Amino acid sequence: MIKKFDSLFEMMEAFPDEQTCVDHLRSIRWGEGNEHAHCPHCGSTRVMHFSDKKTHKCHDCRKKFSIKVGTIFEDSKIPLRKWFMAIWLITSHKKGIASTTLAKDIKVTQKTAWFMLHRLRHAARTQSFNRPLEGTVEVDETFMGGKDKNKHAKDRKGKRGPSGKAIVWGALERDGELRTFHLHTLKQVKDAVRSQVKAGELVISDEYSGYRGLSETHWHKTVNHSAGQYAHTGNFFHINSIEGAWSHIKRQVYGIHHWISDKHLARYLAEMTWRYNERESGEGDRMNKLIGRVEGRLTYKELIA
Ligand SMILES: [Zn+2]
Repeated sequence: MIKKFDSLFEMMEAFPDEQTCVDHLRSIRWGEGNEHAHCPHCGSTRVMHFSDKKTHKCHDCRKKFSIKVGTIFEDSKIPLRKWFMAIWLITSHKKGIASTTLAKDIKVTQKTAWFMLHRLRHAARTQSFNRPLEGTVEVDETFMGGKDKNKHAKDRKGKRGPSGKAIVWGALERDGELRTFHLHTLKQVKDAVRSQVKAGELVISDEYSGYRGLSETHWHKTVNHSAGQYAHTGNFFHINSIEGAWSHIKRQVYGIHHWISDKHLARYLAEMTWRYNERESGEGDRMNKLIGRVEGRLTYKELIA
């Protein structure tokens, strides 16, 4: 059964032991009656359920497995109760949580907490790239304190990124989804728009020259910051919403994590973007939604590669 809870206390009461966590994870992944059960090894839907309530066996490939196989929890020695607490903390804290704090809160080493948080960020990554963004879409680029060697700083007053900062680009549907990316060069911005936004839709950007020519595929409007257009609140053509999202994200980067390396930036962005997109959801719903995305492994080897 999929449990409902809306506070840390209720969540802890809902999951008094490992079995209740296993049951919850299975209900979310396979449905309450196991109607979506499938073998993680061969994909067969002919799955047998053992009476120990945690072992399953494939009727076709004959392999045994638990509900954790094929998810970020596979191979983790950390009990699901601690994982659930970590999920609660990363989804309910508006700014996320530092690995040092998580380590103390759930009694694991800092290294383990760091790895757990990266696996959860991996789960939070956008998985809907096949849906093009639609309607009115604000796009913008910004710089964050990585150690990128990139020297293509943007030539705009007040927003020139000091060389050495990481380039982050994002697209935000007005009243819809935010997507963010770590780009290697600013020259990628136009291609980024074309890969994310449906052709013909309204795209609003700043005056950065990299967007030039975008009007061949989109209805492209630019915002002239220096002319004071930005402050003109009645103007429909603005990028205030995505700039709001950037300040939201930067407060987390600098307030919680202080510094983020280039290597892991995309995963931190995934976490923050996901939380931004789910900001209207209830806390319990937000946690269950993230549990619903745990499919797909991230090994320690891949993480430190
Ligand atoms: Zn199988």
